[in-house]
Amino acid sequence: MVMEHKAGFVNIIGKPNVGKSTLMNALLGERLSIATPKAQTTRHRILGLLNEPEYQIVFSDTPGILKPAYKLQERMMEVVNTSFTDADVMVFITDAGEKANIEEHLLEKLNNIGVPVLVVLNKIDTITQPEVSALLITLQTLLPKAEIIPVSALHKFNLQAVLDRVIELIPVSPPYYDKDALSDRPMRFFVAEMIREQILQTYSREIPYSCEVEIEEYKDEEELVRIRAIIYVMRKSQKGILIGHRGEKLKRVGIQARKNIEAFLQKQIFLEMYVKVDEHWRDEDRKLDKFGYN
Ligand code: GDP
Ligand code: MG
Repeated sequence: MVMEHKAGFVNIIGKPNVGKSTLMNALLGERLSIATPKAQTTRHRILGLLNEPEYQIVFSDTPGILKPAYKLQERMMEVVNTSFTDADVMVFITDAGEKANIEEHLLEKLNNIGVPVLVVLNKIDTITQPEVSALLITLQTLLPKAEIIPVSALHKFNLQAVLDRVIELIPVSPPYYDKDALSDRPMRFFVAEMIREQILQTYSREIPYSCEVEIEEYKDEEELVRIRAIIYVMRKSQKGILIGHRGEKLKRVGIQARKNIEAFLQKQIFLEMYVKVDEHWRDEDRKLDKFGYN
């Protein structure tokens, strides 16, 4: 008997920092979506493809659900709203620390969506077994139709259960994307994200949220990939902080980013970085379009 090919969109949503990006990466076995301890690490919708001969799962990682305070965040929430309209399966992640504290309007949306909802209770490595059991009961009361799966995305615990259910739930369909592809995004997008990841890791307070990375040049040569990146900040004082005394801080960002990019591209890179001040990049439609927020 010939197995029919299955394919579907599996959209991952949840509050900031619950582990959406960590879960998607763990399910894919690739580091496609940057994940850091800081909220709002993910700004874009990032598709990650899991390809097997008999199926293609199109995971979609999204920014964390929040109340937008500026235009970039408005765009981020549009991404979340879209993910409610095109899912074959909704994966709603909540984490052990949240104590099932889910807003009413979100519960209502999840209870009324026309597709299966998997609730992933993440970070169970941080709580006790009785606490896990209690949370499972509370979540099931709040989301009676959903199926709840406790996991630890970080420690890759019980992820097979999520994957098995997803494969069962997606419909019979031809693939949506090339079966060799990892994502719908070009390489330079991931390069920019890996630089932004190091900015998130290196600087505190408002700095990461004021930065955007643009890849101005990406040249794939025989021996190496030549990359020129511009980091935009919003104020002159931030430029100073970013660069640091004698350029030490930015150098550190570059060294770590280069390691990660080389591992991702499986090729040597030459990375140049410049810092520019642009007061309004977060609040102008034209600039957000240019940076790929759409
Ligand atoms: P997102 O904002 O929902 O995409 O969350 P991230 O995937 O960026 O993860 C936020 C933080 O939670 C990171 O520091 C992760 O390492 C951490 N994290 C994710 N999953 C787990 C988990 O299962 N256990 C623990 N202890 N930490 C986790
Ligand atoms: Mg994320």
